[in-house]
Amino acid sequence: MADSESSSDGYLLEATDLKVTFRAPGGRKLHAVDTISIGVRPRETVGLVGESGSGKSTVALTLMRAHEPEGGRIVFDGLDVTHLRERDLRPIRQKLQMVFQDPYSSLDPRMSVRRIVAEPLKAHRYGTRAQINARVDELLDQVGLPPDAAERLPAQFSGGQRQRIAIARSLALEPKALIADEPVSALDVSIQAQIINLLRDLQDRLHIAFLVIAHDLALVHQISDRIIVMYLGEAVEEGPSDDIVGRPQHPYTVALLSATPVP
Ligand code: ADP
Ligand code: MG
Repeated sequence: MADSESSSDGYLLEATDLKVTFRAPGGRKLHAVDTISIGVRPRETVGLVGESGSGKSTVALTLMRAHEPEGGRIVFDGLDVTHLRERDLRPIRQKLQMVFQDPYSSLDPRMSVRRIVAEPLKAHRYGTRAQINARVDELLDQVGLPPDAAERLPAQFSGGQRQRIAIARSLALEPKALIADEPVSALDVSIQAQIINLLRDLQDRLHIAFLVIAHDLALVHQISDRIIVMYLGEAVEEGPSDDIVGRPQHPYTVALLSATPVP
């Protein structure tokens, strides 16, 4: 992958030769992400798959610039954001959003759903109180929650519904791209398909670019145009979704496939 990729490939979100290291206790360097390149085009869904500890969340958080990369380059929407300072990241944060694995910890339990979903709108001075309320109602409808959900607290919802609330919040500012890190792995298996269907529905309706991260290759296959397989901080295989599942080339991909039944 990625030798001569540049903005000429039409990527909305592109990381080239990304390297992220952490300091392990004792000062040793841990290479969590080692020279991975990822490109997501507008309206495209790219799946990033690998087992726990392979560096997927680190990639996601680095693309969001919650971590600063040690090497490589990140370009979002034509702008090099690799080393931008926090205050300069504000417009990017608006257009690039993230949904986390655990809807239990990502929602403030003391805040009503209305306040939770309105928070980014207020922070970015979306409009009057009435305009914000109308936008919250629209967002809740978009993610399949009933109108009266707005006045309730997160604890009054199931895991799947809480993930819907988190997704509604992430869509509030009309992002161009959404990173979903293990969006269903904290949910009951029976609920997972509903949230996957919601993401597919949003792909169709909102034309957002998605980076969907999971350890489950079968699941990623359901929603991705392309898949990148990650192993120990590196990409070992990349290709069209059906090829990765139908004709895996790398032994690690084969192992991932045999670990999860493909429907
Ligand atoms: P994944 O999301 O694929 O499970 P992670 O990106 O969370 O993997 O972790 C990759 C590696 O980096 C793991 O060895 C993990 O322990 C380590 N790691 C992740 N975040 C940090 C951090 N903030 N500080 C130190 N090590 C980290
Ligand atoms: Mg993770």
